[in-house]
Amino acid sequence: MEDKIHKILIIGSGAAGLTAAVYAARANLEPVVLDGTLPGGQLTTTTDVENFPGFPEGILGPELMERTRKQAERFGSKILFDQVVSADLAANPKKIRLGQGEILAHAVIIATGASPKLIGLEAEKKLMGRGVSTCATCDGAFFRGADLAVVGGGDSAMEEATFLTKFAKKVYVVHRRQELRASKIMQERAFKNEKIEFIWDSAVEDILGGEKNEVTGIKLKNLKTGESKPLKVEGLFVAIGHTPNSAPFAGQVKTDEQGYILTSEGTRTNLPGVFAAGDCVDHVYRQAITAAGMGCMAALDAERYLAARGIE
Ligand code: NAP
Repeated sequence: MEDKIHKILIIGSGAAGLTAAVYAARANLEPVVLDGTLPGGQLTTTTDVENFPGFPEGILGPELMERTRKQAERFGSKILFDQVVSADLAANPKKIRLGQGEILAHAVIIATGASPKLIGLEAEKKLMGRGVSTCATCDGAFFRGADLAVVGGGDSAMEEATFLTKFAKKVYVVHRRQELRASKIMQERAFKNEKIEFIWDSAVEDILGGEKNEVTGIKLKNLKTGESKPLKVEGLFVAIGHTPNSAPFAGQVKTDEQGYILTSEGTRTNLPGVFAAGDCVDHVYRQAITAAGMGCMAALDAERYLAARGIE
């Protein structure tokens, strides 16, 4: 175990975590950032980000995160490629057990984001990475000329479907209602795209696999009529929302029923010296800019907490 007590540990390296790191590093708090399972966070699995202020032409999600990472490092943040196994956040200093070793810190910012939800089908687990995917940017290029399906009716589903038309012959969007949740601009883009066909009021009941464990189709259920029918596709992209990554802190940091971390007075959690920011807290806005804003707030809140205890 490392003896050093760090001033601040930031758990997560997405928009919230890296922005917190920029602010904490510039305040001379020498932050340590844990990369987690998805360095750079969810923006690394997206393409064009057209709504982050300051980029009138748009910027690729991975590039935005790479630049923020460099900015955090420029001011002295130390980024560790490791993840939390368990944590004692009520202790002082806070004790965080990692995949490799343990780390002590006076203050902790939880910025662990959220992970894609799954439909919950047995075949989904079995065929994940073999035709089932939660990331069009990562896997879309494997499906040149194919017929594909995307499930979901939010911005993610519209974005995934639109992106997949770069490679696919046809993309079906399967949505459980007849009205999309996605923003108007993303809906219109998808409606205009001739390769996209919407299948309304329907759920994916099963995913059909072939002899080589590849996806050969999906079984659709019309939720209004109760009728089921197969649809031939070579891939299924699941884009039905997210679950907050708060499990390692369960029982210590208070969350709502869905696991989103509860904060008050800015980014304070129920535990002194523990702050939370980004998609692990926010199920309403969930934007790169709001996550970054909350990361900034958490760093400022942590800085004040530490200063009040003479740690500068
Ligand atoms: P979301 O807005 O929560 O949408 C999830 C969609 O999946 C909804 O249409 C929902 O249906 C459907 N769904 C949920 N559970 C389901 C299930 N078990 N089976 C079938 N369908 C299910 O999630 P999101 O699309 O990931 O977006 C999350 C946030 O990120 C939003 O704030 C969005 O604006 C933002 N975002 C922005 C961009 C962008 O601006 N470029 C891109 C992606 C995401 P119902 O509608 O019936 O509830």
